[in-house]
Amino acid sequence: MYCSGYQVDTTFLIFSSAEFLPRILYYSHIPAMFLSLFMGFFVYFKSGKVLLGKILLIICLVLSIILIADLIIWVANKSEMVIFFWALFYLFSIGLNFLFVYLFKVFIKKKDISSRDKLIFFLLILPIVIVLPTNYYLQFFDVQTCNAHENGFIVSYGYFLSIITIIWLIILAITGYKKESDLILKKQIIIFFSGINLFLIPLLLLGFTATYLVYSGSEANYTLEPYGYLGIYFFIGVVMYLIVKYKLFGIKIHEGQVIIIALCVLVGAQLFYIKQSTDQIIIAITFLITIFFGWQLIRSIRKEEQRKRRKLEQVNEELRKLDETKSEFINIASHQLRTPITVIRGVISLMKSGKIDQLSEEEKKQFITSAWEKGCKLEEIIKDILNAAALTNKKYIVAREMVEDIALDRLVFQIVNDFRSESERTEIKLSFKKEGTSFLIQGIREDLREVFNNLLDNAFKYTFPLNGVIDVYIQEKENIILVSIKDNGIGIPEKEVTRLFEKFYRASNAKKMYTDGSGLGLFIVHEIVEGHKGETWVKSQLDHGTTFFVSLPKR
Ligand code: ADP
Repeated sequence: MYCSGYQVDTTFLIFSSAEFLPRILYYSHIPAMFLSLFMGFFVYFKSGKVLLGKILLIICLVLSIILIADLIIWVANKSEMVIFFWALFYLFSIGLNFLFVYLFKVFIKKKDISSRDKLIFFLLILPIVIVLPTNYYLQFFDVQTCNAHENGFIVSYGYFLSIITIIWLIILAITGYKKESDLILKKQIIIFFSGINLFLIPLLLLGFTATYLVYSGSEANYTLEPYGYLGIYFFIGVVMYLIVKYKLFGIKIHEGQVIIIALCVLVGAQLFYIKQSTDQIIIAITFLITIFFGWQLIRSIRKEEQRKRRKLEQVNEELRKLDETKSEFINIASHQLRTPITVIRGVISLMKSGKIDQLSEEEKKQFITSAWEKGCKLEEIIKDILNAAALTNKKYIVAREMVEDIALDRLVFQIVNDFRSESERTEIKLSFKKEGTSFLIQGIREDLREVFNNLLDNAFKYTFPLNGVIDVYIQEKENIILVSIKDNGIGIPEKEVTRLFEKFYRASNAKKMYTDGSGLGLFIVHEIVEGHKGETWVKSQLDHGTTFFVSLPKR
């Protein structure tokens, strides 16, 4: 406003040399407008356009209109222009208060307000909407003396509405706080309420002081009014804080990013009120540097977050697998351990009741053999479970004092021979071949026996009788001894091969063919071989066969 005979300057504000404008205006209006628009659109799009985000965006747009109108009032040199923008400013300022009530109510209730509330809003604002276009509100404005002829009644009504909305906000905050049982949500209500009122109350008080001074006959002191808009920063700060701390609007963003953006805006804002061109150049360069490094920092924060997220996903995956393992264990305990016990108990109960004596010798033998076999099976499963449990608690280590020299060809040959009777029974051909002269390694004999025993046992389990073939082949290589156990059995589905050495893991086709497995054998094999500084791997083709390889370092 060009009051009290100040020089008139109508060039656009930023480039204006108008010394009469209060310096604070550049700071209170322009960055605040950019920042609020940025926040409004950011929240709107990031929140997936939820109602709360929509209201916030409308608030930011209305706020921008108010700020622009106010700036125009400050630089206008024609009284008609001032009158027009003054009315616009007034209408939107009242509307803003109601929008804040709307925002806060949706924030607390987590749903849209009722049509009754909307009607009340509308009816309360209606008188102002009707009166504003007429010259009844602001009849006259003298740009030279700043003398405004505002209608006292309408001005008072405006203040009345502002006070009503603030009381409304207070009531909403108190009732919302009392009803809410969640402590975190209670905190959010207080913070949000404070953010809104740190803006609305000073704005009301400063506006009132400026207007009151006019009415009391003193000189108009409009220069106070821009300070009221500094409260926008509080409000933006609170919303950003709620987003960072509580993921309000469902937005995930890092505090570092908010601080960097705020820093860029604050540095950039200086461009608007620094007048000297050398200073402007320095500020412009600082601004560009801030943006550049800020951007780099934001990128690194993002990368770090992505890394953390990936890590978390990995840990989650491990936990999921662990959970699966637990269920598998329960499955084994309930199924595989119970079945043999049922058979053993059945046979013993026959003995106890004496009924077994009524059976033929052949039948008696069959029952007792079956109980014996189930007992052995039980022992085997329990041994596997105990071994696996021990390996889970403690890494398998081959202590120096426990190792002995072992001729691996002889050990493997012995185990192959142990399976001769199985080969005859199932009519699966079993062969052993070796290539090389020295197969000496160092290790724990019993544990290595367990390794090849398990692999051969599997080969028999997963190969069909009659035309099955199992070839065991041991070769001496430069630094290692390589043993392969090849069968022409059911094979392993390609996707499942990588998981075979996990505890309890059983491939889908194996589960169908042989229901009694524990999925622990290969895990134990893998741990033992690794403990001997060797390696295990597998090649397989579904329905065609599988080859397991074990390599162990030569002595
Ligand atoms: P189990 O045999 O008790 O299920 P293992 O740990 O010994 O447990 O084997 C894990 C899984 O590896 C088996 O369930 C099976 O799916 C697969 N597997 C192991 N050896 C063979 C093989 N020779 N042919 C096909 N699949 C095999």
